[in-house]
Amino acid sequence: MPAVGALDLRIRGVVQGVGFRPFVYRLARRHALAGWVRNGESGVAVHVEGPLDALDAFARAVVDEAPPAASIASVDATPGAFERHREFAIRESSAGERPTARIAPDIAVCRACLRELFDPADRRYRYPYINCTDCGPRYSIVLGLPYDRPATTMASWTMCARCEAEYDDPADRRFHAQPQACPACGPSYVLREDGRDEMRGTAAIAAAAARLRDGAIVAIKGIGGYHLACNATDAEAVAALRERKYRKERPFAVMTCSVELARTLVELDDAAEALLTSVARPIVLARARRVLEGVAPGNRELGVMLPYTPLHHLLFAEGAPDVLVLTSANRSSEPIAFEDADAVANLAGIAEAFLVGERRIARRIDDSVARVTAAGSSVLRRARGFAPRAIVTIPATRSILAVGGDLKNAIALVVAGQAFVSQHVGDLDHLPARDAFEQTVHDLCAMYEIHEDELLLAHDAHPEYASSVFARSTLGEHVAIQHHRAHVASVLAERGEWDREVIGVAFDGTGYGDDGTIWGGEIFTGSIRGGFDRVAHLREAPLPGGDAAAQFPVQAAAGFLFDLDDLPDLTAEPFGFPARYAFARSMIERGVRTFRTTSMGRLFDTVAALLGFTREITFEGQAAMWLEHQAAAASETAAYEFPLRDGELDYRPLLAAIVDDRLCGRDGGSIARAFHGAVVEAVVGVHAAFGADRPLVASGGVWQNRLLVESLYARLGESLWLNRIVPANDGGLCLGQAALAAVAMRS
Ligand code: ZN
Ligand code: ZN
Ligand code: FE
Repeated sequence: MPAVGALDLRIRGVVQGVGFRPFVYRLARRHALAGWVRNGESGVAVHVEGPLDALDAFARAVVDEAPPAASIASVDATPGAFERHREFAIRESSAGERPTARIAPDIAVCRACLRELFDPADRRYRYPYINCTDCGPRYSIVLGLPYDRPATTMASWTMCARCEAEYDDPADRRFHAQPQACPACGPSYVLREDGRDEMRGTAAIAAAAARLRDGAIVAIKGIGGYHLACNATDAEAVAALRERKYRKERPFAVMTCSVELARTLVELDDAAEALLTSVARPIVLARARRVLEGVAPGNRELGVMLPYTPLHHLLFAEGAPDVLVLTSANRSSEPIAFEDADAVANLAGIAEAFLVGERRIARRIDDSVARVTAAGSSVLRRARGFAPRAIVTIPATRSILAVGGDLKNAIALVVAGQAFVSQHVGDLDHLPARDAFEQTVHDLCAMYEIHEDELLLAHDAHPEYASSVFARSTLGEHVAIQHHRAHVASVLAERGEWDREVIGVAFDGTGYGDDGTIWGGEIFTGSIRGGFDRVAHLREAPLPGGDAAAQFPVQAAAGFLFDLDDLPDLTAEPFGFPARYAFARSMIERGVRTFRTTSMGRLFDTVAALLGFTREITFEGQAAMWLEHQAAAASETAAYEFPLRDGELDYRPLLAAIVDDRLCGRDGGSIARAFHGAVVEAVVGVHAAFGADRPLVASGGVWQNRLLVESLYARLGESLWLNRIVPANDGGLCLGQAALAAVAMRS
C-alpha cells in the first residue's frame, strides 16, 4: 500500500467567483483524493487526503490548470491532519474573520456558453443572460461578500428546477455560478420605444438590430452601464450621435463582430490581438487601417473592442451592422448611466430606442482602454474586466484609502496589504461625478468591511480638489501626497520596488506643486521608502488664467512665449492667433490672474498652437494628441535643442527655433517631429545627468503619447520603467498615493 498523507492548501488571489471550487473538486476526483474545498475569507482553502504522489501531482495541477479567469497570487501548502475522509466535498463559505478575498472582475462570455447560445437544441438557445462559472458578470452584480447569489442583483430571480440542479451539481459547469439563469426562470431584454415596452426576448433584440441597420441610435444595457450604439459606417448616424451627445470631436470606440473584421480596421500585432481577445475584453487602441467618417476625426488610432456579453453576439447574429459605434451612455462627460429609469429619462433626446436588460447593475463600470506599444502594453482606463482585481501588495499595517485626483478619478483601497483599485470614476468637476466618487468609496469600503474612521486617507496635495476636500472631511487620519511624486511612485508600486533609487520623470498637464504653483514637468531622484527630491523641472512660465488655460492652446502659448525676444506678430500669418492670445499676453503684463507653471502639457499646447491648433479644445489633451499625430505622420528629423541648465529644462531655444522654422515655411509635421525628438533627448540627458545606472521612471498623462514612449524606449531600452497595470494618467495616482502613504505611516 502506498504512503498516504494529508495536505492543507490556502490559495490566494482572484479565486472566488471564477469557478475555482468546482475546478478543485474535479481535480481532486481525477486524482482520487478525498477531502474538501471551501471559500474562506482569505481565498480558497483545500484539504486533501490520499497517496503522497497524488497529493504532489494535485498541488501542481491546482496552479498549472487553474481556470482561465483565475489569477493565483500565492499557494501555501502545509501537511494536514489525516481525518479519514471518504470522498471529496465542496463546503459552504465560512464567515467570521474580515474578508480579504477578492471579488473577480466581469468576464467575457466563454466558448462553451457561446456554443450553447447558438445551438437550437440547447435550452438556452438565444438567451441573452447565458453564463457559467467560467464566464459572465461578477463585480457588476455583487452587492456584498462572500460572493453568493443572495448577495447579488440576481437574488430576486428564483431558479427553476433545472437551473437549480445544475447549480447544485459539483460536476456541472454551472455549479454555484451565481448569475445562473435560463429563459424559463431568468431575466431577459425588453425593447422600449416611445415610452412603451414593445417587445421582449429574441424579438426585442432582432428589432434593435433592425433599428441600428436603419441608422437609429439605440441605448443598450451592457455589463456596467448603458451604451449608445449606432452603425459606425453610417456617417449620418455618427454625426447625429455627436450632435445629440454634445461630443464634437472626442474619438468614439467601435465594436466589431469578429477579430477578423477588427484586423481590417486596425493594425494588430500578436500582443494587441491577445489583449483584444482576453477575458477582460478592453477597448484596444491601435493604428487605424480604415477611416470611418466622424468616428475618430483627425486621429491615427482607433479604439476597437470585441463582443463580450451574449447580448452583443445576439445583436450581430440578428443582423446589426458589423461595426458599431459603442460609447458610454451619458450627456457629455457625466458618469455612464447604469440605472434603467435614469437611462431612459436622461437619454430620451439621444436614443430612439432602448434595449433594457432586466438584470439590475449593482455599480457603474465603463469599458477599459488599453494598448500595446513597442515598450509593452499599457492601460489608459482601468475599468470593466480589470477592476476591482487586487493588483499589488503594499506593506501596510493598517487599511489605507487613496482617493486619487479630480481628473480621471479612480480610488485604491489597501486591505491586509493588498491594493484594490476601483474602476475609473471620471472627472469630479460636477455633481453627478462627485456622487459617483463617494458611492465608489462607500462601496469599496463596504465590500471589505472597512469602517471609514479606521482608515488612513491619502489624497492629492491640491487643497481644492473635491477628492482632497472629501478626504479631509472624513473621520480618519489623512495625509497629502504631492501629485507628481504619486505618479512616479505608481510605477514603482506596480513593480514592488520600495527601496530602488530611480530617476522619476513626471510629465503631465497640471498638478499642485510643493510651492503652490502648477507643476507638470518634474524630475525627481529617490525611492518610495526614502522619498523623492525634486532635482530639476521645466523652466517656469507665466500662465494666464491658470488651469483654465488648458482649454486654449494660444493662452498657454502667451505664457511660454512671453520671455522670448524678437517675437513676430503671432496674430498675423502663418500663425493666425486669435484675439484671445493678445488678451492673455496683456493679462501677464498687468499681472492679472497669472500663475506660474512648469507644465509639460502646456508646452505641448504651445507648440500645437504655433503649428496651427489655435482654437479651443473640445476634450482634454486634444491639442497634444493632434501634435503627436502631426509628428507621427512625418519622417524622423534632427531634434531641437532643449538644454538642461541649473536644474531647468529651458524651452526657449526650441520655441524660438519653431517660430523661425514656421516663418521659413518648414512643414508642420516635421517641426512637430523635431519637438518630440527634443523632449526625448532632454529626458535621455536627464538620465545621464542624474545617474544613467538607475532606472528612469516615466509617468504622468504626457506619457500616453505613443510616439514619445516608443522613441524614448528606443533610446533607453529596459532602463525605461513605465506604468503597465494602472494608467500613466491621473487614473493611476491612487496607487502611488497608497504606496507613499504606507511609507509615511511607518515613519
Ligand atoms: Zn460560460
Ligand atoms: Zn432556469
Ligand atoms: Fe497628473
